Amino acid sequence: MDYQQILEEIQQEIIPLIGKGTIADYIPELACVDKNKFGMYLLLLDDSAYEVGDVQELFSIQSISKVFMLALIISHIGEKVYERVNVEPSGDPFNSLVQLEYEGGIPRNPFINSGALVITDMMLTHLENPKEELLRFVQELAGDTSIAYNEKVANSEKAIGFKNAAMVNLMKSFGNIHHDVEDVLDLYCTFCSIEMSCAQLASAFRVFANHGTGVIDTKKYITKSQYKRITAIMQTCGFYDEAGEFAFRVGLPGKSGVGGGIAAMLPSHYSIVVWSPGLNEKGNSLVGLKALELFTTKTGTSIF
Ligand code: GLU
Repeated sequence: MDYQQILEEIQQEIIPLIGKGTIADYIPELACVDKNKFGMYLLLLDDSAYEVGDVQELFSIQSISKVFMLALIISHIGEKVYERVNVEPSGDPFNSLVQLEYEGGIPRNPFINSGALVITDMMLTHLENPKEELLRFVQELAGDTSIAYNEKVANSEKAIGFKNAAMVNLMKSFGNIHHDVEDVLDLYCTFCSIEMSCAQLASAFRVFANHGTGVIDTKKYITKSQYKRITAIMQTCGFYDEAGEFAFRVGLPGKSGVGGGIAAMLPSHYSIVVWSPGLNEKGNSLVGLKALELFTTKTGTSIF
């Protein structure tokens, strides 16, 4: 298959959509990102890579970090994670408070904000230095020690994170947050502020395409059964309340973030990352969704 040719075709076909959608300017530091950016990077298990566009430029991975957070905590405490967070799609926006109230402070899944806030709380309990350990984990998966948090983005979000604060407080009132509210919020915003390029993110995400084992270092980061569960949650909950649409149009497990990135993978075959900052009304990259739909259609590859 001529993957390079396919990526180049996609780059042409998405031109009318470039610049469309809205930037996640509710985080002030993200408001200045150039909406016209587009990068797409495909990495196969045999190490061949194909790319178009701005694939080396760093962007804020935001909620994509929730996959790494889940993988790291699961590698430490296993199934216990699911005692405090469910695994059902929410069908509500990622920062919605309504379900939390009537479901007794147990978040629907680990990939919406409330779920990731509980995971952050678990990381504070079970990891010695969660801030350093998550970054090291991502660096190791990507094989790149230059990956870092962007403190400016983290601080910018902390300053306006009233809804996240409301969620942590609500969950604390139900006994599902064990640490200090401010400590949880600080760490969560820091996790969201990781910056990566499409190329780095595809390298890190490839561990999921390889069933939890590093392709180059052959290290078993998570067990096969943990991999299976994380992948299932990506498939059902990875795209806010657009997970059904993503499965319908693209057909790959993955995760999006409001920084405009989407990381996805085909088990046993490849990881693929698209970045374009203009978001649709559900918070997913408008161009990213289209580009991935074109990719799985043209290549005839998807999990279905
Ligand atoms: N840090 C963002 C927030 O909590 C993450 C949102 C996202 O990427 O889904 O609002």
